[in-house]
Amino acid sequence: MNIAEQIKTLEELAAVDAELKTLDDQIALERGTLSTLKDSLKELEGKLGTGQSQMSALDKSRSDLMNEARTMMQQLDHSREKLNRSRNERESNAAQRELEELRKLVRDREDEVGKLSTELDNVRAGNDATEAEMKKISEELGGKEGDITASLSKVEGERAERAGVRSAIAKKLPAQIFRRYELIRSKRGTGLAKTTDGTCRACNMSLPPQLFHRLRREPVLEQCPSCNRLIYFEPPQQAVSST
Ligand SMILES: [Zn+2]
Repeated sequence: MNIAEQIKTLEELAAVDAELKTLDDQIALERGTLSTLKDSLKELEGKLGTGQSQMSALDKSRSDLMNEARTMMQQLDHSREKLNRSRNERESNAAQRELEELRKLVRDREDEVGKLSTELDNVRAGNDATEAEMKKISEELGGKEGDITASLSKVEGERAERAGVRSAIAKKLPAQIFRRYELIRSKRGTGLAKTTDGTCRACNMSLPPQLFHRLRREPVLEQCPSCNRLIYFEPPQQAVSST
């Protein structure tokens, strides 16, 4: 394989690599869409779980307080009886004080129960909103998953076909050239550059005049001193009228 053929083969390889990159981007994008939706769903599931345990903790505190209040009401009855049975002012004052204290304790608990009920309502509303959001995302996922999966398998099929073409092209190149191309491509994203006017078209840096001269004289593969890509000379295209 002469140099001109190597250049042509490298051009084919670079073209296939550009196609592969487009396909890989598309695969990543579609997988990304699916995983973003799935991640949101998982996150919301966690949020709902937290909300539900918050609700049962609040509910438990509330019924504990209600039980306490009930017990205190019984004590209140008891204190009222004491007041009725009191034989002197001292006993009656003591029973009165006990009644007052118990009434205050009951009131405190009722206030707490009221606060907890409000909090429960808020948490419940939050959970309802989370569930609504989950439903929306599930529906979106349900609607898209089939399409995306179908499109992914199509793109992945194309990718496999292109990868086959690529390895056939790669096998034609001298191993050393292919290795160098791969090394540069792994660092720069692309491995091949061309020049028409003395600047590297990949990195836009001017080539040393000596190098440009050598590239123009005959088909030859060099490396751009700035970006290291394999570089060759492409004669200026004839201007094509596009009217
Ligand atoms: Zn360059």
